[in-house]
Amino acid sequence: MTTVLFAVPGLWADYQAELPKALAEAGVAAEVVTEAAPETVDYIVYAPSSPLQDFSPYTRAKAVLSLWAGVERIVGNASLTRPLCRMVDPGLTEGMVEWVVGHTLRHHLGMDRHTVNPGHAWDPTCPPLARERPVTVLGMGALGSACAEALRALNFPVTGWSRTAKPGCLHGEDGLRKALAGAEIVVTLLPKTPETENLLNAERLALMPKGAVILNPGRGALIDDDALLAALDAGHIGHATLDVFRVEPLPPDHPYWTHPRVTVTPHIAADTRASSAARVIAENIRRGEAGEPFLHLVDRARGY
Ligand code: NAP
Repeated sequence: MTTVLFAVPGLWADYQAELPKALAEAGVAAEVVTEAAPETVDYIVYAPSSPLQDFSPYTRAKAVLSLWAGVERIVGNASLTRPLCRMVDPGLTEGMVEWVVGHTLRHHLGMDRHTVNPGHAWDPTCPPLARERPVTVLGMGALGSACAEALRALNFPVTGWSRTAKPGCLHGEDGLRKALAGAEIVVTLLPKTPETENLLNAERLALMPKGAVILNPGRGALIDDDALLAALDAGHIGHATLDVFRVEPLPPDHPYWTHPRVTVTPHIAADTRASSAARVIAENIRRGEAGEPFLHLVDRARGY
């Protein structure tokens, strides 16, 4: 019998039925527990917020399976020598697509002018068509590529940018400059790594056309906050809709809360959904038991 330690106490209520069900459907004979002697554990279902931080006693563990997509808080943990898999969950992806498409359409259609219009101004200016509004997605992984596909389905011309070269996608510093210079809306869906920290700094923000909008559901550290506030104050960046921050919850006195060109959403762009995520976890445990390669393995050296 395979022992699966569910090490995310706050989420047990969501998974205690879903995970055993998904494991049974995957044909894995496993017991899911919330406490166990470390040396008896085969798999650890984990989140970087878990109290478990020292993995060294888990000598038998075949993998650590994260419920989070972003792993920057665990990727450098020296006691974790087992394979680490991150979460790629269809439910989470669906949520991110909805958040990105919704906020893109808000800015594209200029909805704020009509929803908050105390003076009842009659301005019959029509927004351009989506085909006339270029969007750049920085980070074309599981989430970025799904968002790009949904935006393209609405006719937005989408430019993607990633670390490695891939068809139809820009990469490298030149690619980034081109991607920013051509974008009226920029969506940041990169992981937080040493290479992506402060990626949107003053110099790169200046490359974006005047009035461009930033949507950041990736990680707070992708943006140099002081540079963004300066670009917003100067009117160079038209608006920033931010879901993630260096410090969360965003401190009450942070200037983002009151800035007229900033919308704060409280890290709700996309949540891992227990019903679909349990199936991803179960499939990885099935693979581990069958000696097949794990899905969504984190490359520790790369940081994501
Ligand atoms: P992913 O599949 O690992 O994709 C990451 C993408 O970023 C890849 O396209 C990768 O390029 C690119 N990238 C990484 N480092 C880069 C660099 N130095 N330069 C250029 N591109 C780089 O990750 P994902 O599942 O799409 O998730 C992305 C991030 O979203 C997560 O790390 C997390 O921070 C965030 N997130 C936020 C929420 C929320 O609720 N706000 C929810 C889930 C996730 P390659 O394709 O070349 O490898």
